[in-house]
Amino acid sequence: MSWLNTNRRTDCERQGNEPVNSLVNLRSGAVRTVKELVVISGKGGTGKTSLVASFAALAKDSVLADCDVDAANLHLLTAPRVVHREPFTGGKRAVIDAHLCAACGQCEELCRFDAIQSDDSGNMVYTATYRVDPMACEGCGVCAWFCPEHAIALEPTVNGEWFISETRFGPLVHARLGAAEENSGKLVSLVRTTAKKIAEERQIGLVLIDGSPGIGCPVIASITGADLAVVVTEPTPSGLHDMERVAELTRHFGIPAAVCINKWDLNAEMCGRMEAKARDLGMRWAGKVRYEKAVTEAQVEGKAIVEQGRSGSAKDIEQVWKGLRELLEGAGGQDRASAMRIIA
Ligand code: SF4
Ligand code: SF4
Repeated sequence: MSWLNTNRRTDCERQGNEPVNSLVNLRSGAVRTVKELVVISGKGGTGKTSLVASFAALAKDSVLADCDVDAANLHLLTAPRVVHREPFTGGKRAVIDAHLCAACGQCEELCRFDAIQSDDSGNMVYTATYRVDPMACEGCGVCAWFCPEHAIALEPTVNGEWFISETRFGPLVHARLGAAEENSGKLVSLVRTTAKKIAEERQIGLVLIDGSPGIGCPVIASITGADLAVVVTEPTPSGLHDMERVAELTRHFGIPAAVCINKWDLNAEMCGRMEAKARDLGMRWAGKVRYEKAVTEAQVEGKAIVEQGRSGSAKDIEQVWKGLRELLEGAGGQDRASAMRIIA
């Protein structure tokens, strides 16, 4: 694919900055392996995307993947220049050919999503025909299978759009899912796979993934096979609950996980409890980031917090990143079982 070969040097390299990511030996051109670090949270709004942007700024040479396709916003902090865009066709919907429809009504009876109704438009033979409501159709195919006139076809639908962009941190793969569209898990997989291909092609050793929040299909697609999942949460009872749910998910899928508490100083006592709980759950402690106005100011300016200057929260994030990089490198060259032992 031609877009993989374009612009092999990142904006960062062109500006003369030396990549410091030790996962990649750019001088020799040798890449040991592409590591995938995914940042997730039990719910949206925990500061996950801000952290990913800062990690990207600190890594200096990585491929970014915005897998929060239902509410993508990493582009707001990275000022991407789109170099490639494609429609995303992730699902199918039924379409009735009114000329073939014999108005028997079977499809209406069979559709458990109430997506088919008759109307009075008719055709040359019948006074009524049936139509599919595209917003209600789930593409299950039952109506097409049973239609005696073979009047129903399942047609691919465009559910959104995905992009490859260049940013000051490196390439970014991102997407936009249409309103009320489904198949976000498929789109997440597409974004991740593309980001990894770009990393391999450009010999970049790290893919930073802004994962989907929650514990559903999109987040499973975000974390499956990743080398390390960083769970970002806040020091509240619901943050603790979210952390426990996500811990269960990462353990189920065998993904090493570390916890980072954002805005920890809003409730220091709860933060301490959560750190202890994280360790009980077999998760690594990635660190904590204080609450500061500088974070919001950086967001308003479209910057990563660590680009904003030497605020306390920027220093906290640098510490968190240092620890995460050590975790990733510590697991380098080892199999997943060994990596899990390191994390545990
Ligand atoms: S099952 Fe086929 S022929 Fe019968 S109403 Fe539906 S589309 Fe028309
Ligand atoms: S494909 Fe399934 S959901 Fe869509 S109209 Fe047919 S039966 Fe209903």
